[in-house]
Amino acid sequence: IVHIAPGCGKEDFLLGREHGLSVIAPLGEDGRFRDDFAPFAGRGAAEVAPDIFGGLEAKGLLFKVEDYRHRYPVCWRCGDELVFRLVDEWFIAMDPVREQIMASAREVRWIPEYGLERELDWLRNMSDWCISKKRYWGLALPIYRCECGRFEVIGSREELRERAVEGWERFDGHSPHRPWVDEVKVACADCGAAVGRVKDVGNPWLDAGIVPFSTNRYLDDREFWREWFPADFITECFPGQFRNWFYAILAMSTVLENRAPFRVLLGHALVKDEKGREMHKSAGNAISFEVAADKMGADVMRWVFLGHNPTQHLSFGFGVGREAERKLLTLWNVYSFFVTYAEIDGVNPAEFNLPAERLQPLDRWVRSRFNALARLAREKLDEFDPSAVPRAVETFIDDLSTWYVRRNRRRFWKPARSGITDDDDKAAAYQSLYACLSGLVRLIAPFMPFLAEEMYQNLVRPCDPTAPESVHLCAFPEPDPALDAPELEDEVALVRSVVSLGHSAREKARRKVRQPLASVIITVAGADERDRCLRHADVVREELNVRELLFNEPGAEFPPDYEVARDPGRAVGVNTRLTRELENEGLARELVHKIQNLRKQAGFNVTDRILLYCAADGAEAAGRFAEALAAHHDYVTRETLTLKISPEPLAVPAIERGLEVNGLPVRLALARAES
Ligand SMILES: [Zn+2]
Ligand SMILES: [Zn+2]
Repeated sequence: IVHIAPGCGKEDFLLGREHGLSVIAPLGEDGRFRDDFAPFAGRGAAEVAPDIFGGLEAKGLLFKVEDYRHRYPVCWRCGDELVFRLVDEWFIAMDPVREQIMASAREVRWIPEYGLERELDWLRNMSDWCISKKRYWGLALPIYRCECGRFEVIGSREELRERAVEGWERFDGHSPHRPWVDEVKVACADCGAAVGRVKDVGNPWLDAGIVPFSTNRYLDDREFWREWFPADFITECFPGQFRNWFYAILAMSTVLENRAPFRVLLGHALVKDEKGREMHKSAGNAISFEVAADKMGADVMRWVFLGHNPTQHLSFGFGVGREAERKLLTLWNVYSFFVTYAEIDGVNPAEFNLPAERLQPLDRWVRSRFNALARLAREKLDEFDPSAVPRAVETFIDDLSTWYVRRNRRRFWKPARSGITDDDDKAAAYQSLYACLSGLVRLIAPFMPFLAEEMYQNLVRPCDPTAPESVHLCAFPEPDPALDAPELEDEVALVRSVVSLGHSAREKARRKVRQPLASVIITVAGADERDRCLRHADVVREELNVRELLFNEPGAEFPPDYEVARDPGRAVGVNTRLTRELENEGLARELVHKIQNLRKQAGFNVTDRILLYCAADGAEAAGRFAEALAAHHDYVTRETLTLKISPEPLAVPAIERGLEVNGLPVRLALARAES
């Protein structure tokens, strides 16, 4: 037995057509039986099942009644059961324009490229375009159908006024929507009868399809429209849009102007939760835009989205946001470091203008790095591919923070002569860091408009009276070829990889960086690499905190006291044997570190001078501290801005702590010195 209802579902309708079955459509718009279907008239589709069984039984047609499971559509919003109804709709015949639309699709750039093939596939196979909907709100279809069989499409408000035979005065002054537009009747061109608009409204994709025209005054200011057409760039998510928006704008524009309404289309994948699952309110893993913007900030969200490959789904969540925030915090720290010292020195960094040859190697290095970043960002943005830029910016921030600023801190710290001039090395440091930061805020402005503006207003505007009012009125940064230093960049990269190996070797030997070591031995690929390392020998020694820098021949063994870390082609070994002298210096350095922490905990300013009290616990510790301080007294006091190491406990310490320094118990107390 096959049950088939050609008026109540697509498959049944098609099968009924094939077999010439009559189509019965018993339900009205409200899902209830129509009046001519007595005795069910007025009753809901779901209510009549028992009566139908009864009727069949009475006629002797009932074979068997049993329950069975099947899939049934429900309203996605309220869960109500839905029924299918057979209705008439309006279609646009697409065959006459199919080839032209495909030609339009081919003339634009699709990102990713496979988008074109997906669109063409749809265009090749699409049926006629169903444009009507049984709704009240929406684009009022300007179709007028007479009972005599003629139908017409009215092309404009003017045409409607000319053709109107009644109701114009009730429509005039309103937008062309229901209910007002339905007041107007036109005369049928064949029989002269007064004809009203069909009740259907348009499918929303009709509206979406004419965006390139309706939003740019196509009908009333063609010159204006021409300035903006076609759009340089449009973007929407891929799934679904090939047969919706992309299709609709291509179709409309092809019919009206015989070309695509845009030059570049970027299709992107979807946002999922952090584990890659669909976000659903009911599953509890949905994050609304507002909540995300409040909690992590709109700029952090932008950073996450823009740094993502748009062809892949984005796994989004607060963990991802925190990770991005952590990296951006590094930028903020560099920025506030700069502002802090520029304020202490009272300098205007925009006024320094040293030529490249007056800068230190690291100044030129960091400017060259910024050049590379600016070049990459320009190239990628020109290509409509921003996703590589956030990673590159983060790498640059890391260069800036962990190499440039960290290695140059002393240049900012050292006391300024009154009025720093271009003669001063400090000027070179300020000039270089200012150039990087002011360039960087302009570079990130399209990615993080709020953060960039905040930094720009505080960093650039007070320094440069000619600076535009907003970072968003500035030009995008240009690389300065005079500051390109690719060889220097290679050298620093080599030095950093050697240093990083040295740190690994130290870690293996459990020797903190603050503990000076006697020597490091480096094995590099050849004489050329050795020379490049040697040009930065001071940096390697300082970074690894070793006294002596030595080189091995490639393949040579390391002496027994050395702990070695290796890379393909390179090896770095650190001498792990400690002399008493090295231990003393290590103790002094560790002590400085502890005092700096206490300064911070006590809330001292970076320029505050202090009094220090340092009492070791026990004779052995006392002896060791005395020895270390005797050898490194000046170093300790200079680094910690200690005016005096007091032999007596401080009368009113700002902070006092008992702690261990390299395993030796000690009591430390700090107070601000009277200036
Ligand atoms: Zn519903
Ligand atoms: Zn007619």
